[in-house]
Amino acid sequence: MSTSLRFKMVAEAFNRKAAPVDIPEKRPDEYYGELVFNRQKMFEYLPLKVYNALINAIENKKPIGRELADSVADGMRRWAIDNGARHYTHWFHPLTDGTAEKHEAFVEHNGKGGVVEEFSGKLLMQQEPDASSFPNGGIRNTFEARGYSVWDISSPAFIMEQTLCIPTIFISYTGESLDYKAPLLRALNSVDKAAAAVARYFDPEVKHVVSYLGWEQEYFLVDESLYSARPDLVMTGRTLMGHESPKNQQLEDHYFGSIPSRVQAFMLELEIRCHRLGIPVKTRHNEVAPNQFELAPIYEETNLANDHNLLLMSLMTEVARKHNFRVLLHEKPFAGVNGSGKHNNWSLGTDRGTQLFAPGKTPKDNLQFITFVVNVMAAVHRHNALLKASIMSATNAHRLGANEAPPAIISIFTGSQLAKTLEDICASDDSDCLSLQSKSEYSLGLSQIPEILIDNTDRNRTSPFAFTGNRFEFRAVGSTANCASAMIALNAAVADQLADFHIKIEQRLSAGEELNKALLAEIRVLIEQSKDIHFDGNGYSDEWKAEAARRGLDCETCAPKIFDAYLAPESVEMFRRTGVFTRVELEARNEVKWEMYTKKIQIEARVLGDLALNHIIPVATRYQSMLIDNAVKLKELFGERGLDVAASNLEAIEKISKHIGIIRTAVRTMVDARKQANAIDDERTKAVAYHDNVASQMEIIRYSIDKLELLVDNEMWPLPKYRELLFIR
Ligand code: ADP
Ligand code: MG
Repeated sequence: MSTSLRFKMVAEAFNRKAAPVDIPEKRPDEYYGELVFNRQKMFEYLPLKVYNALINAIENKKPIGRELADSVADGMRRWAIDNGARHYTHWFHPLTDGTAEKHEAFVEHNGKGGVVEEFSGKLLMQQEPDASSFPNGGIRNTFEARGYSVWDISSPAFIMEQTLCIPTIFISYTGESLDYKAPLLRALNSVDKAAAAVARYFDPEVKHVVSYLGWEQEYFLVDESLYSARPDLVMTGRTLMGHESPKNQQLEDHYFGSIPSRVQAFMLELEIRCHRLGIPVKTRHNEVAPNQFELAPIYEETNLANDHNLLLMSLMTEVARKHNFRVLLHEKPFAGVNGSGKHNNWSLGTDRGTQLFAPGKTPKDNLQFITFVVNVMAAVHRHNALLKASIMSATNAHRLGANEAPPAIISIFTGSQLAKTLEDICASDDSDCLSLQSKSEYSLGLSQIPEILIDNTDRNRTSPFAFTGNRFEFRAVGSTANCASAMIALNAAVADQLADFHIKIEQRLSAGEELNKALLAEIRVLIEQSKDIHFDGNGYSDEWKAEAARRGLDCETCAPKIFDAYLAPESVEMFRRTGVFTRVELEARNEVKWEMYTKKIQIEARVLGDLALNHIIPVATRYQSMLIDNAVKLKELFGERGLDVAASNLEAIEKISKHIGIIRTAVRTMVDARKQANAIDDERTKAVAYHDNVASQMEIIRYSIDKLELLVDNEMWPLPKYRELLFIR
């Protein structure tokens, strides 16, 4: 790109006005959910008997028969066509980032040269997407097995782009999951059963426990012209080079600052689109880095919340384009400023309306609260390595452990009040248990817990997993992630822990122990066992890294090795007991993780190599020639004194040569490292080689390119700079 073109793009980006927004004439409560086949639409479009049977199946997680499916499909099709849909698709979450769909029109030959609208229960329930190229870690060999997508009746169908989208799970012919949704549903089922059994100690009427998720999606926006001039952004979603802008986030003037009008227009349109699709987005604001923003909904049942997050990410991409932006969901699009995460606010609640992580008004409620919180702590302690693996990826690796995001060590922040309560419980003896029974105000401090809600001021931003009053906030999740990965590991681990707790309590009860006494005894054991997971201090500090290692918490930082935790015996057993994954599934999924890791680094390395050799070095050399030319002329002009006069030029000439030399050598080393790594068969070993030998060279190359950016004439520099990319006016 010639410079004048770069300047033109920058000017265009800076002068761009907010795009007009299609604001519906209806009120938000009227258009909310209008593109969703929700209960109201079901009631309208299905015969009453069919409606009742479907709701019964949804609520009790029962399979539905062929006849019922035919009737539901018929109603769903009529609703979809009435609302402008012409196609339908099974919508699923393969093991790549994002979602997949294959559209079919609602038409069939009518045998008379025309067509009829058609959509049968069979087509609704199950399909066989021609999807042999989705990652499957060897489970789904193209030659032997087929993959099926199967309707997930718990998540409502919706219309997007004139297409009826039916949320589905994606499994192999032999029943192994090939997606995120199937294991998520299994994990949610398992936490439902295990948590309900424990919740019944406090309220015998509890039938189900629901897992809730409220995600907070962070993202960057970049003007589309500038984006298109950055091949690294286009191909990898992040900048592989770029010197820090003199001003970035140091003034802290972006966070919660006023939102630029162009961005505001984008947000408004996005919210309207979300609301029409029944996604309850609520909060929007600027984030810490320039051009960084956040969007959060009201929390929902975890499976639905996750579908909504995935849908949101596609919507964002689409709406951004209409507003001449590109949305960057990458965890670390720009070096030197904060990256993006997706905090997962998570809680459990009973079908009787009790929030299990919220302190209550009576000691009994609080004993229930403590029971659940302590079981979560125990599960997170036991499976801290697995939880870290569940959020790890080639892209999130750039964010974790940097001084802005949670460290690459999982610990729990409880806040001082909860910590004190747990200490008191451990220090108390059985006479306190009796006073609990008599509802004494002061027993164990259990009646004091509601104050925790007020004690939220000391929220610790460095903690990867924090208790925040009535929920836990898993903050290490990356902005591009499918939340299901974290939610599968967390819900399954907690389910397994609660099941174990239940067994222990039952043993005590059958030995004649009184319930409260049994609960407190087991709670004490868990507090003792898992106290090493509790850390309220500064997670960024080096002392914590040393301390965490002493405590035996997982401190691995190499992403491909972090994935090993999925295959550790305690994980395999836990997933087997909860029925979430078989060993075969875990092995296959790890193959996919390693393969994806390798591919991402491979693409980045290629893009960086090309840019270094074809964009940066030619420009630096041309500028250097100008300097040389100038030095030669100075020498002619000044004779003997010429070299002195040209001294600073000579210095710059040398520096440029030095950096060009470093870049060429590192690119060569990187290409060789790639060749060697590519020859490795084992996916894990290959990924580790990419981590150790390829990614490390990229940093060396970047460092010298960023130095050249400061040396070379601004007019000649081919790529939009950070200061141009990062400030939307
Ligand atoms: P923050 O101060 O962390 O930004 P917000 O009040 O914006 O917190 O809430 C973040 C998210 O947490 C929202 O999606 C919200 O609905 C969700 N949330 C609130 N309470 C719960 C809960 N009990 N369970 C799960 N998510 C919750
Ligand atoms: Mg939060």
